[in-house]
Amino acid sequence: MTQLEHSRASVERRIDAACRQAGRDRESVRLIAVSKTRSEQEIQALHTLGQRLFGENYVQEFVAKHDALALLLEPPPEWHFIGALQANKTRVVAERAHWVHSVDRLKIAERLSAQRPAGRPPLQVCLQVDLSREPGKSGVRETELQALADATAQLPRLALRGLMTLPAPSDDPEQQRRPFARLRELRDTLNATGHRLDTLSMGMSDDLEAAILEGATLVRVGTALFGPRSPSSRQT
Ligand SMILES: *Cc1c(COP(=O)(O)O)cnc(C)c1O
Repeated sequence: MTQLEHSRASVERRIDAACRQAGRDRESVRLIAVSKTRSEQEIQALHTLGQRLFGENYVQEFVAKHDALALLLEPPPEWHFIGALQANKTRVVAERAHWVHSVDRLKIAERLSAQRPAGRPPLQVCLQVDLSREPGKSGVRETELQALADATAQLPRLALRGLMTLPAPSDDPEQQRRPFARLRELRDTLNATGHRLDTLSMGMSDDLEAAILEGATLVRVGTALFGPRSPSSRQT
């Protein structure tokens, strides 16, 4: 077994166990392999093992890898853009991604909708929520979430699917569950006002169990699959 096969099997076991503990079907949770800073060869190797969902954070890196792999991977992967998005970089993402998890203001949503090519299905989006209340963090504030959801749901070329959050790391499993439980409550509150959100994008390498116990439907895992990222490899 290669290292990658080991890592993937171990992540799969963790997801299985968490689903069992939560009394949930394994099919209710999908695994996104977060491949930021990883090579095309690493993505290809994981794809060969059956991985189909990949997540990227940095626009230029996403475009380069997406385009290089477009003709190589069969079946084609499902690409999730999960990084911070500036208004002047939305077009290339709207043209390539299947999902964007990081919509946190109306201007970004409007541009993605306007720039989504006519021949493709609507872009699936999650609203990123900042639960930390710290200034400067990306994500919409809880108090502005309802208005953003209402406006985004009206956009013709987007399909509003759910909420995403990226909480401060914690080693304590009880502490880990708190922001995930809050995101679930916010989803339920929106659905009580007529939205039909079926997606909670939450949980990473260190807290995917806590997220699954609170209802995560998409977990975003990098390090536990590919190993540690080198600090110098961050790209924009
Ligand atoms: C990097 C990243 C992840 C994956 O984090 P790991 O700890 O490596 O699993 C998940 N979500 C987002 C938004 C990220 O930027």
